[in-house]
Amino acid sequence: MYDYIIIHYSEIGTKGENKVIFENKLVENIKKALRDKVKDTKKKYGFIACELDKKYDKENLINILSKIPGVAYFSFSKISKLDMKDLTEKSLRLLENLKFNSFKVCSRRSNKGFEKNSQEINKILGELIIKSLNKKVEVSKPDLELFVEVGHKEIFIYHEKLKGIGGLPVDSSSNILCSLSGGIDSPVAAYLMMKRGCKVTFVHIFNKTINQGVLSKINELIERLNKIQLESKLYIVPFEEIQKEIIKRVQSDSRMIIYRRFMMKIINEIAKKEKINVMITGDNLGQVASQTGENLRCIYDSSNLVILTPLIGMNKEEIIEIGKRIGTYEISIKPYSDCCSFMIAKNPKTKARLRDIIKIEEEIENREELIKKAVLNSEERFITY
Ligand code: ATP
Ligand code: MG
Repeated sequence: MYDYIIIHYSEIGTKGENKVIFENKLVENIKKALRDKVKDTKKKYGFIACELDKKYDKENLINILSKIPGVAYFSFSKISKLDMKDLTEKSLRLLENLKFNSFKVCSRRSNKGFEKNSQEINKILGELIIKSLNKKVEVSKPDLELFVEVGHKEIFIYHEKLKGIGGLPVDSSSNILCSLSGGIDSPVAAYLMMKRGCKVTFVHIFNKTINQGVLSKINELIERLNKIQLESKLYIVPFEEIQKEIIKRVQSDSRMIIYRRFMMKIINEIAKKEKINVMITGDNLGQVASQTGENLRCIYDSSNLVILTPLIGMNKEEIIEIGKRIGTYEISIKPYSDCCSFMIAKNPKTKARLRDIIKIEEEIENREELIKKAVLNSEERFITY
């Protein structure tokens, strides 16, 4: 029934001279996402057009495109020749089976050489729809809007605007590292930064003696996030030796902070390797003991990277709602034990002081060595779409 999908982007339009770079990245990402599902994807007159196969799966295409950052909205479209007769025929055929009473026609002409201007097209099509389909014009709140985009080779005709997630195309801004646990928060944090154009590389810190099962969960979470980012790299870093050392030397009420300081140092080492200087965590102020302002200060002090915390001021329900929408929540809630909560006090310190923490940490003399070794022994995985 349809010939093309027309994809509009909003925020990219504000990018001035750099706009082309963002547009090209979005085309590249859409091509990857729709690989074998459409014939061709091209930039045209301020939007992106995907030529549809004869046998296309509309639901599946909607599912894919509604998760690609940078897509503001998209529409299934028919095309007509650059000719008023063909345009009116195709428009009527598109509308004749749809249910609506009131309508409005919105035309736009990139091709100024076309025989009619936008207002004339609106008037001709409007009168025809009134006469042939017995509908009425309504300018402020019509049941249906018919959009007509006159290009240089063809005219696109569509009526439905399906919502995308907006933002910027993945890999058009910064490369960042995400400290990914198997919980609810960190995958949501990763998604929010993907939507801001970041390409996210994941780091999961893993104690194999606690729970092997968490790795399949991490894999599943990243596969879900790949619907947004399309492909991801994951580092799995062994933590058992470090954790054993911490448990031996540090009292249980400070362990969580020391665990996380070591995690930060590991991530900093990986950042050097990956030439990345920004990282994100799923921290959310006040959610658990490690996430008081004072404790976050003690934890973040051990990192030289810019640390973004996109969830810091959100309520748990708000985070869960996003997790449900992107499909990570149902994976996150499967039971698992994170090494962060292994052998810690029931009432950990909530207001740690940095100088005390540093003193405690210095009890572990071979810490540089332990960190280097963990990174050296880490496993790298590529997870594809
Ligand atoms: P989440 O749902 O993200 O697990 P949480 O409420 O369980 O959040 P914590 O376990 O205190 O919070 O962890 C806070 C943050 O520390 C996580 O969001 C994540 O960024 C990081 N983190 C915790 N455990 C790990 C881990 N094993 N590997 C990598 N990062 C981790
Ligand atoms: Mg956690």
